[in-house]
Amino acid sequence: MNTTAIADAPPEISIVVPAFNEADGLSTFLEQLFGMLAQCCASYEVWVVDDGSRDNTWERLRAELPCYPHLRGLRFTRNFGKEAAILAGLRHVRGQAAVVMDADGQHPVALLPELLTPWRAGNAQIVAARKARRDTDSFISRLQARMFNQTMHVLTGLDLEGASDFRLLDRRVVDTLLAFPEKVRFFRGMTVWTGFATTHVAFDVAPRIAGSSQWSTAQLTRLAISAITSYSAKPLGMIFRLGLLGMVAAFLLLLQALYSWFGDIAVSGWTSITVVVLFFGSANLLGIGVLGAYLAQIFDEVKARPEYLVRELVADDGGSRSP
Ligand code: UDP
Ligand code: MG
Repeated sequence: MNTTAIADAPPEISIVVPAFNEADGLSTFLEQLFGMLAQCCASYEVWVVDDGSRDNTWERLRAELPCYPHLRGLRFTRNFGKEAAILAGLRHVRGQAAVVMDADGQHPVALLPELLTPWRAGNAQIVAARKARRDTDSFISRLQARMFNQTMHVLTGLDLEGASDFRLLDRRVVDTLLAFPEKVRFFRGMTVWTGFATTHVAFDVAPRIAGSSQWSTAQLTRLAISAITSYSAKPLGMIFRLGLLGMVAAFLLLLQALYSWFGDIAVSGWTSITVVVLFFGSANLLGIGVLGAYLAQIFDEVKARPEYLVRELVADDGGSRSP
């Protein structure tokens, strides 16, 4: 029997886990995850991507390596963001399918069999978990998510209500996403964009095992802007339409001004002039802001810097090496 060939065969499932400051909950999460994988998968691997944690997430992960032979780890030089961590994980996995899930236990491992079933049956190449209830999230984070999803819907046409990064991707989808040349990525939107056969599975967001969410409002705003500019050019078309609307309004005002002038009541137009100047002044600034966001995105793409830098990598043998 050729054991090398068996050892080298790609596993059925690869799990990608982005982790940022998750030291306190990591052991519990891995225990739950490997417990479930042993029940539902013939072969698997787990890649934890430490996104430049400032606590001892990496040391915890190293300590867990001897317990789980299929655990692998990747550590960034600094915090590059969840999108970069997902990308790095997907670049390393070898499974016939990959599942992306959070390290904090909010994506319940009990859902894995449900994600696998439609894929194994050949009915779906993407199985996306949708948040049914998110009572465990704070009112503010639910409000932020709602605003983000609605803005995305208006500006890009993507319906992300309840969407999460917790999803299974067939090998073909992973390879397709990795072949995209773009640097600024929005994982959720990109998987929808590919149009591969998708099934949805509902789940209730579990409470965090430990710690609290790491997203600041500023980070979320940046994510929202880059998600929109990387996914759709629709806002540029909106500025154009706003400009057209402005021209119509300006023309009507011109008629009113001429009427006032001929009727010798010219001064009475002061209020409407002020309103129009204010409105179009801010509309201009808004327009420039939108153009700026796209320009910044093009700037990032043209610079073509790597999406992340890897500091260390640990695999089966438990030893670490430079990437
Ligand atoms: N995360 C990450 N990099 C970051 C922020 C978060 O890899 O800069 C990871 C985090 O460790 C977790 C997942 O992304 O596994 C979701 O983060 P979080 O729980 O803070 O967000 P929420 O659950 O509120 O969406
Ligand atoms: Mg979370």
